[in-house]
Amino acid sequence: MSRPYDVIVVGLGVMGCAAAYTLARRGHRVLGLDRFVPPHQNGSSHGNTRMIREAYFEDPLYVPLVRRAYQLWEELGRDAGGKTFLRKTGGVYIGPPESATVTGALDSAMRYRIPHEVLSAGKLHRRFPSLTPFDDWVGVLELRAGVLFAEPIIEAYLELARLKGAEFKVGDPVRSVEPAGGSVRVATEQAVYEAPQAIVAAGAWMPQLLGDLSLPLTIERQVSHWFDPSRDEASFGMDRMPVTIWEYKESQYFFSLPDAGDGVKVGLHHGGAITTPDDVDRTVSADELARISDMLRRFMPYAKGHHRGSVTCLYTNTPDGDFIVDRHPAIPGVIVMSPCSGHGFKFASVLAECVADLLADRAPAFDVSAFSLARFAK
Ligand SMILES: Cc1cc2nc3c(=O)[nH]c(=O)nc-3n(C[C@H](O)[C@H](O)[C@H](O)COP(=O)(O)OP(=O)(O)OC[C@H]3O[C@@H](n4cnc5c(N)ncnc54)[C@H](O)[C@@H]3O)c2cc1C
Repeated sequence: MSRPYDVIVVGLGVMGCAAAYTLARRGHRVLGLDRFVPPHQNGSSHGNTRMIREAYFEDPLYVPLVRRAYQLWEELGRDAGGKTFLRKTGGVYIGPPESATVTGALDSAMRYRIPHEVLSAGKLHRRFPSLTPFDDWVGVLELRAGVLFAEPIIEAYLELARLKGAEFKVGDPVRSVEPAGGSVRVATEQAVYEAPQAIVAAGAWMPQLLGDLSLPLTIERQVSHWFDPSRDEASFGMDRMPVTIWEYKESQYFFSLPDAGDGVKVGLHHGGAITTPDDVDRTVSADELARISDMLRRFMPYAKGHHRGSVTCLYTNTPDGDFIVDRHPAIPGVIVMSPCSGHGFKFASVLAECVADLLADRAPAFDVSAFSLARFAK
């Protein structure tokens, strides 16, 4: 018989770890389960760094959420004894003036009075010599955007949650999540656990774990690459280079993050092969490397020095690109918290707060109705 838990968290990527810590901090007895040993490289939360940005071009609805997330990332640093998990570098959204990235970032910036500047291509290059946009493109610059340190965040969440009494059992896949009287029964390959409530944050494994829900998710293979600059290294450092998103063709994106000690990180946002977490091809091909090298030659030519390495990662996409944060319709004690469509990391801290409120039957401080499961039925 396992010890009594209040909440079982299935999946310990950034979402599950954030939830486990937030709940343990609120006094819940938490059990966290993962099929691997987190932080690991098989899901969606690895690769050293993640972008955080406020002038959210995808939809202004994310701005209040990300504002709270900024506070919580800083709070996590304090809880961890003064560590830095968020480094503000500034961020630029680059493309033709009429592109959705530029107009969307401006819309969010103006609606929420986010300090920003619109820079011509020439001004952008003079301000950030590492960036060479086409002459008729513009950049929307915001200063609060920056970088989150992914694996250290997961390690900190796990350690701090343990200090608050949470237990973790890892390397043991969950096979089922089912109702059991008024409780939730979670069966792994090796054991069966019960608790009044559970959170399922299994990322790309969500469709197989919650097969009954027929979630309309697609799992997309993504690759991040790291390069040493070929010259002018200082202009690629975290104190000189902003994070960037380039809409180089309609709805096609290239991104970069400054050198955090492991090279400049670059990649394409979306456009990857549709796959499953068990079948994904983790080998990076010469063609993929040639494609990203072309992007660099065009937009950040001096970033393309020695290729340090590439890593595959997974996006779990909903049809509308928004998240899922909702109660399981058939198992009332279960909250589904995950599919983050390739932009969820920055929100893990605040979504964990929302989920903890939902579990306590309180309305979250932010409206998460856009992340409901019911929207897929429409
Ligand atoms: C290349 C790349 C770049 C990105 N860049 C950004 C960015 O700049 N900014 C941003 O905000 N977001 C970004 N994202 C998105 C963000 O990283 C993800 O939204 C986020 O990490 C998803 O976290 P998760 O916890 O939902 O999933 P995961 O990290 O995949 O965690 C799911 C966990 O569940 C476990 N699990 C699955 N099935 C089971 C089971 N049956 N039993 C037990 N455990 C199980 C897995 O082992 C895993 O640990 C990026 C993603 C990728 C791939």
